[in-house]
Amino acid sequence: MKLVIIGGVAGGATAAARARRLDESAEIVIYERGQYVSFANCGLPYYIGEVIQERDALLVSTPEMFKGKYNVDVKVMSEAVAIDRQAKTVTVKHLMTGQEITESYDKLILSPGAEPVKPPLPGVDLPGVLSLRSIPDSDTIKALVDSGKVKKAVVVGGGFIGLEMAENLAERGVRITLVEAMDQVMPPIDYEMATLVHANLELKGVDLRLKTRITGFEQAGEGLLVNTEAGDKIECDLALLSIGVRPENELAKQAGLDIGPRGHFLVDNSLRTNDPDIFAVGDAVQIWDYVTGLPVAMALAGPANRQGRIAADNAMGRSTVYRGALGTSVVGLFGQVIASTGPSQKFLEANNVPHMVVYSHSPNHASYYPGSEMMAVKLIFAPGSGRVLGGQIIGGPGAERRIDVLATAAKAGLSVFDLEELDLAYAPPFGSARDPINVAGMVAANMLRGDMKAVTPLAIEDMDPENDVLIDVRFDDEVEETGTIKGSMHIPLPQLRSRLPILDKSKRYLVYCAIGLRGYLAYRIMVQNGFNVVNILGGFGLYRPWLGRAEGAIVDKDQAITLGAAFAAS
Ligand code: FAD
Repeated sequence: MKLVIIGGVAGGATAAARARRLDESAEIVIYERGQYVSFANCGLPYYIGEVIQERDALLVSTPEMFKGKYNVDVKVMSEAVAIDRQAKTVTVKHLMTGQEITESYDKLILSPGAEPVKPPLPGVDLPGVLSLRSIPDSDTIKALVDSGKVKKAVVVGGGFIGLEMAENLAERGVRITLVEAMDQVMPPIDYEMATLVHANLELKGVDLRLKTRITGFEQAGEGLLVNTEAGDKIECDLALLSIGVRPENELAKQAGLDIGPRGHFLVDNSLRTNDPDIFAVGDAVQIWDYVTGLPVAMALAGPANRQGRIAADNAMGRSTVYRGALGTSVVGLFGQVIASTGPSQKFLEANNVPHMVVYSHSPNHASYYPGSEMMAVKLIFAPGSGRVLGGQIIGGPGAERRIDVLATAAKAGLSVFDLEELDLAYAPPFGSARDPINVAGMVAANMLRGDMKAVTPLAIEDMDPENDVLIDVRFDDEVEETGTIKGSMHIPLPQLRSRLPILDKSKRYLVYCAIGLRGYLAYRIMVQNGFNVVNILGGFGLYRPWLGRAEGAIVDKDQAITLGAAFAAS
């Protein structure tokens, strides 16, 4: 048995190690185009930021280590340029010598990854316009930053790599402009959750320019100008292109392997291509969303690793099924943790998949223990059954742990009723007796059981001025400090019961607090007193970054409608 693997990083290296564990006698060869095998590409931004101080720490393995540990031959600087499927051979070009060899295989695993998108814009090849995929890329960027010449950088694209680079360059004292063509950063999460990230970026001094398209780059003395469609010319010393990746599919095209609409290799659930002896894994393949079964592509290390292992199983004669991915991910950004799992709401909407959402806010650990931070949780679940479909969490430390609980729940087919009951670890420095995941489950379960009617802050925009009344139940000092949503009547929760007699029962009341909990209490008080009422999920805390940035959306406390005035008007 001879197994040849193309690409020796996340998917390819994992496949090689797994194959060796299954068959000690197989001949296993990896061809890797770059200089390094199995390096820590996810660590590159942190090496540039000098969080990882030793370059060698990025070299998770070497060809010598692969030989010693796994008896796998790793040939670096060796690019596979053609596959002859009839002859079952690969043509490999050595990039130092230019020499080509023909290598035979019994089974072939392709893990060529995806390369940064480089749009054909004027000036895109200028020396200061860079992207980050490999160790040599990070060497180039780090050397520039180390030279002290980079005072300002434009990061183009607000995905994972763009955000990590924004943070790491900022940590090195570089002023950052982050330019994003869409109206939000972090495409895997939904817009309203991304607004919490926008607020954090701005708080940390990043010049965030959303809905801004780049049209080209110009040299300006020693620096660069980044031109935008709106006619702006943003000065910088370095422009980092991080606008997404494109699957490396040249081999697939040349060999006549099936590719999908966005250029990814098409594979079945054993990760086999349309050639029974060729498997493909990692960033270059189209897979399917675990929850909906719909086709997706994900450039993430976890799925690439698991696929590498499964493709090796199948190449070595086992029958292991790949069941798709949730795309669970996490990014740290200036102390904020941005985590998500499963399909987003916008993905479900675009594909007409029925779903419901709730928002909840909870402290990451007991609020009386020093350093607690709120985390915003968006839970996405199926109507009726309450099956967990996915979630998004923005918060401080501990958000990553909670997203892993949601990922496990989504994988296991658990429901929001199970989340209510999950027995999760608690001591004051780490959590609360009612964990943020329990709370999210309770909010969702309350809705499904009919204990709470709730709407998202979007409902405020659709209010009927004749029949709907918005009530802010936060305390005086909170409203004093932050203002209130325009058109709100302010009745602090402790005064609500005594004010009920002068509220008009023919109206519909939309109640909100800071995060949704006191809104729920207000809801329960009012509904049991015969009012038509809904709670606004996420409350003011979600409204403010999401919709509250519009001119006049938030007004001062003294502009809140007083109960007397409302009473007089009705
Ligand atoms: P790769 O790991 O990219 O490996 C493909 C290899 O194949 C490359 O080295 C390439 O040189 C080689 N190759 C391509 N074509 C040929 C050919 N014809 N012949 C020979 N060799 C070839 N994911 C996360 O989940 N979390 C993170 O925090 C994270 N951070 C990241 C940070 C950066 C800067 C980058 C670049 C990626 C990050 N990722 C992260 C993504 C993750 O690294 C990828 O999803 C994962 O490496 C994909 O594995 P792969 O095997 O498909 O491709």
